[in-house]
Amino acid sequence: MQIRGYAINDVGGRAEPFRYERTLGSSDVLVKITHRSLARGDIQFIDNAWGDTRFPLVPGHEIIGLVEETGSEVTDLHAGDRVGIGYQQAACFECSFCTRGIEQLCASQEVIAVDRHGGLAEHIVVDGRFAFRLPPQLDSATSTPLLSSGLTVYAGIVRARLPAGSRVAVLGAGGLGHLAIQFLYKMGHGVTVFSHSPSKSGLVERLGGAFVDSSDPRRLKEYQGAFDFIVSTLNVAFDLDAFVRMLTPQGQLCLVASPLERLSLSGGQLNNSRRSIYGNYIGSRAETVSMLEFSATHGIKGVVEVMPLARVNEAIERVRRRDVEIALVLDG
Ligand SMILES: [Zn+2]
Repeated sequence: MQIRGYAINDVGGRAEPFRYERTLGSSDVLVKITHRSLARGDIQFIDNAWGDTRFPLVPGHEIIGLVEETGSEVTDLHAGDRVGIGYQQAACFECSFCTRGIEQLCASQEVIAVDRHGGLAEHIVVDGRFAFRLPPQLDSATSTPLLSSGLTVYAGIVRARLPAGSRVAVLGAGGLGHLAIQFLYKMGHGVTVFSHSPSKSGLVERLGGAFVDSSDPRRLKEYQGAFDFIVSTLNVAFDLDAFVRMLTPQGQLCLVASPLERLSLSGGQLNNSRRSIYGNYIGSRAETVSMLEFSATHGIKGVVEVMPLARVNEAIERVRRRDVEIALVLDG
């Protein structure tokens, strides 16, 4: 079948109308896309920031739509089901990672922008094992950012196995951070949010966090040893030492974004107090289901502005110049 959408043909280029051929395999589903986000990560793919973008590129790795057709082996999804689709599109289901249920580490996984075309299109064909039925309580537009940003922060938080009532911090209150605040708050933790943008203090407080202006270094000193867990959503270089110092003994810091620059760390801050640092990106299929259920139960929502898909180039320019409050979703 032929899929119509928009593609970027060269590094940093504009989105142009584009068609590509796709067949529906026995384990695949054809999904009519109703909503897809356009995020900072899509701009990085358009600009080939990681060096692995395949052009022509159909970006968009947070997708919601309705199942239109199913392959012969798909039994748990049916035409009309509303599903969410994220960055990962395929896995081998046989390797040591897949058999342990951590398919996001599969060496033969396929992902949008590198191996597959994404959500800036009318349809997508995806393995039914990577299309997740949306709980009915979830609104399509405000749930779109959950499929990659939400999964990334949720899986990173769950890995810390925090006892309820932990003292936690979120670094950054953007696309990833605003969801991390909500998850941590609804899990019952006390959430402090460090951001350089005083204009976000109202939003942070509405989502359940206490706002701290991190552009004032004196404020950072007040929090030494204050947190059991910190999640950093920052994609620019920052003072890692200053935040590791804020951890309690055995405290954990999770990085869910990758600054292109190197971060420096004094090793003594880890071995003297058994603190640890780890990273996380997306999550497993089981974590996706769990994240969507948690979001439905606790009313987790992305803060989104919605624009029509036809205005895609305007959307790309606005995300590029950071002229979006938090997240942009294209519908239609
Ligand atoms: Zn595998």
